[in-house]
Amino acid sequence: MRRLALVNAGELVTCSGGGDPPGLDAIEDGALLAVGGRVAWVGTTKEFRRKGIKVDAVADAHGRLVTPGFVDPHTHLAFAGSREDELERKARGETYSSILRSGGGILRTTRETRRASLRSIAAQSGDRLGQLVRNGVTTVEVKTGYGGDLAGEVKLLRAIRLLGRGGGIDVEATFMGLHATPAGFSAAEYLRYVLGKVLPAISAMQDKPRFSDCFCERGVFTAAECSKYLQASRKAGLALKVHADEFSDSGGASLAAEMGCVSADHLGKSDAEGLREMGKRNVTAVLLPMTSSYSGIGFADAKGIAAAGCTLALGTDLSPNSWVESPQLVMGLACTALRMTPAEALLAFTAGAAKALRRDDVGNLRVGSKADFVIHSLPNHRFLPYRVGGRYVEAVFKEGRRLALNEAS
Ligand SMILES: [Zn+2]
Repeated sequence: MRRLALVNAGELVTCSGGGDPPGLDAIEDGALLAVGGRVAWVGTTKEFRRKGIKVDAVADAHGRLVTPGFVDPHTHLAFAGSREDELERKARGETYSSILRSGGGILRTTRETRRASLRSIAAQSGDRLGQLVRNGVTTVEVKTGYGGDLAGEVKLLRAIRLLGRGGGIDVEATFMGLHATPAGFSAAEYLRYVLGKVLPAISAMQDKPRFSDCFCERGVFTAAECSKYLQASRKAGLALKVHADEFSDSGGASLAAEMGCVSADHLGKSDAEGLREMGKRNVTAVLLPMTSSYSGIGFADAKGIAAAGCTLALGTDLSPNSWVESPQLVMGLACTALRMTPAEALLAFTAGAAKALRRDDVGNLRVGSKADFVIHSLPNHRFLPYRVGGRYVEAVFKEGRRLALNEAS
């Protein structure tokens, strides 16, 4: 089996759960041995040299920061078209919700995605995936939800599967059956259609998605509608997620706890009781601060959510509403607006995000995990959310192999 050594990491952050700051388990002058794509040993460069192990390749970090590859647990990156004019509409006083009500937003992306061919959607989305990889993402979740009907959702899922094969990184697919109500349906009619036709067909597919997600929000789908959808999804063998309380307290946090969701995402307006229930039921809280910025709404209370006992995860929420391809920007905002520490932000984009995808073999560099890591041209993890906007990702390794970043798209 192929052996790769990483040496001379000024700070090797393994996100293994211990150490100081808590959880980072950082090693000064760190080294790592990957065998067959998995982490086989972690320690200092000095210790590694003493062992005298023969390897096939060496990655020298030259004193720089090395972290696990980022895990992006929440994206809608599979779509066609764009909505850049919405920034002007918002500047003139329109809101996310009023744009949606006028047939824009998700409804417009659904029209554009339905018109596009599978090949075109895969090409446009592959470009976005490549940008994420350049910024250090090695595992990504991608949702459907712009299909509008059964054929559209199947086409999107196929596009996501193509991305998984072509992108060189792990792609987790989520069926987002309840995203917006297409024109010509009431919410209740569309729910019946999804439960009767779409969910059964999607969950019968050979490579069915692992997760099912829905948009629980005033004016979109109610907690009662989402509850029916999530129960049916669970019966169909999918693990559950929910877009909860982004714009208003819609009972999403309590619903996520009650249904035993893997994660509840957004949580900007959740009530304290719902968050405590989530903490008790071990529901991971996925925070998406760039989306709060793009939608012009308040930020989630990261400290309160953590105090309620929830593991925190961060994601880009890459979508036509908030076209964000940079984990570093998200971590910067998490530190400045949500008052998370750099260590908390990094953990939320690695181990915490992996938990939101029910994975423990990514988002950390423990022995046995995938050898997915990033060399940053930065001195330590505190710089990740601090010096942002330039290109500080030096090299990205997936399962012990260096990805060719110039060809990533
Ligand atoms: Zn979303």
